[in-house]
Amino acid sequence: MPIYEYTCPFCGSFSVLRAIQDRSLPARCPGCDAKAGRAIGAPNLNLMSMALRAAFSRNEKSCHEPGIAAAIIVDRAAIMAHPPRPA
Ligand SMILES: [Zn+2]
Repeated sequence: MPIYEYTCPFCGSFSVLRAIQDRSLPARCPGCDAKAGRAIGAPNLNLMSMALRAAFSRNEKSCHEPGIAAAIIVDRAAIMAHPPRPA
C-alpha cells in the first residue's frame, strides 16, 4: 500500500498508509481526530525496491481484476496416493 499525505486544518500534515481505492476518502488526524483532506504530493513509490514495487502493483491489480487461471493442472498420482476421505 502506498503512503498518502493528508492535511489537518488544526495540526498540519501527516502521512497514512492506505489502499489506493481509499486514497480520496478523508483520514482521521492522529493528533485531534478531525477529518483531514488529502494533500497532493509526489508519490513515494520510487523509494521501494523493484521486487517490492512489483508485489504492490500485483496486489493492487488483483484487488480490482482477479486473474483467471488458463488451465487447472491435476496431479492424478497425488490424488491416488492420498484420496479424499468420505464425509
Ligand atoms: Zn489534527
